[in-house]
Amino acid sequence: MTTPIPCAPTTPMALPLPHVRILLVEDDDADAGLVRHGLKPFATRFTLAHCTTLGAAEAWLQANGCDVVLLDLTLPDSSGFATVRRMRAAAPTLPLIVLTGFDNEQVALQAVEAGTQDYLVKGQADGPVMWRSIQHAIARKRLEEELRLSEERLQGIITLAQDAIITADHGMRIVLFNPAAEQLFGYSADTIRGQPLDRLLPPEVRSSHAAHMRAFERSSDTSRPMSARQEVYGITASGGRFPAEVSIAKLLHSGGTLYTAIVRDISERLRVENELRRLATTDSLTGLPNRRQFLAVGETELARLHRYARPLGVLMMDVDHFKAINDTHGHAAGDQALITLAAVCREELRDTDHLGRLGGEEFAILLPETPLPRAVEVAERLRQRLGSVFVKRPGGGSFRFTVSIGVTDGRHGDRTIERALARADHALYQAKHSGRNRVITSDDPA
Ligand code: GH3
Ligand code: MG
Ligand code: MG
Repeated sequence: MTTPIPCAPTTPMALPLPHVRILLVEDDDADAGLVRHGLKPFATRFTLAHCTTLGAAEAWLQANGCDVVLLDLTLPDSSGFATVRRMRAAAPTLPLIVLTGFDNEQVALQAVEAGTQDYLVKGQADGPVMWRSIQHAIARKRLEEELRLSEERLQGIITLAQDAIITADHGMRIVLFNPAAEQLFGYSADTIRGQPLDRLLPPEVRSSHAAHMRAFERSSDTSRPMSARQEVYGITASGGRFPAEVSIAKLLHSGGTLYTAIVRDISERLRVENELRRLATTDSLTGLPNRRQFLAVGETELARLHRYARPLGVLMMDVDHFKAINDTHGHAAGDQALITLAAVCREELRDTDHLGRLGGEEFAILLPETPLPRAVEVAERLRQRLGSVFVKRPGGGSFRFTVSIGVTDGRHGDRTIERALARADHALYQAKHSGRNRVITSDDPA
């Protein structure tokens, strides 16, 4: 039997609700009367629907909804804890207050622990207590729902994140390991949970990592990017090592500090970065450092010269009549000559010498620890060797070419490496004008 009282239209859950729609589920008319009577002083602030069986209450909720349910546990069609379970299933998000006889308080307490918001002992609760309990249950349920939603949202983020998310407890043991972490490290969450966080780190950094974490724990920072640290690596279950970007956050709670790390494999990014760096600093035809890179290296060598007064040989080299080579043998053959020149020079020079393509068929060489007379000898050796090499023509056959070289040494007065290169270039110009295929030493005293 139901005695519905018209309900107000659904209001969004805001507190305090301006109008509360109460569903009373109570088979005992006297007990129902007590509730109605007790709530009378608040009559303008609620409407009350009354069902006497759980089945009727379920149907009522389905059709009408309400803001709070007052639920007697002993009904004609259900009793005890099952009543709570069924009501929860019918209305999982509704605030629920259990009505119980005083001999049944134990069950009521269990019901609260199992997710009802409050309980009232029949005959002991007067109107204001009942009304306060209703307000309290609504507020509590709203907070519980907000918490549940926020946990679900967080769980969704953790599950779907592309980055590994790992939480460790105060003792640095893993308590959370999301699917991306499983994928990245190759451990299942079940096997790694409870294991030391250390396992995911290369053995040689474990002690410094521990010190880093202790410092982080003491610091006032709540989060910290670890990318600032130079190289961070992760170790997978199969012993593989990958470069990682890691940020960590700490959360203080009663059980001790919790640490959460977000770990991203940056192998691919590093590969692309290295490739971009290579492209930006090398000449694509010969693979030699390009002008910009060569000048940068040159500045470093010049700084060494200034600081330690070490000798530095400086050479400028240019292919003779290169235009004619292109014209006679074709552009591809010209390219081949440049590739050959680079390879032969690299072969002849020391690993510590620097060779760069400054542009066109113009190359520069820096010879650290090499005084001028020695640099001239090197230049002469290069000239002779290059002049004797046969370059294969793509279409068949071969040809030779010669080079002219201008030589100088780095000097204390050189403010930039370009200054020394300009001196070598001037000597090269003289070599061209005095017949090509020769080495000329700069006679510029400055
Ligand atoms: P010189 O003996 O005075 O140095 O004469 P040259 O012909 O070598 O000098 P010039 O500066 O007149 O011509 C250089 C030529 O080099 C012109 C240009 O088309 C060619 N060149 C520049 N870069 C490349 C390249 O990457 N590949 C080829 N095949 N030719 C190039
Ligand atoms: Mg030339
Ligand atoms: Mg030229």
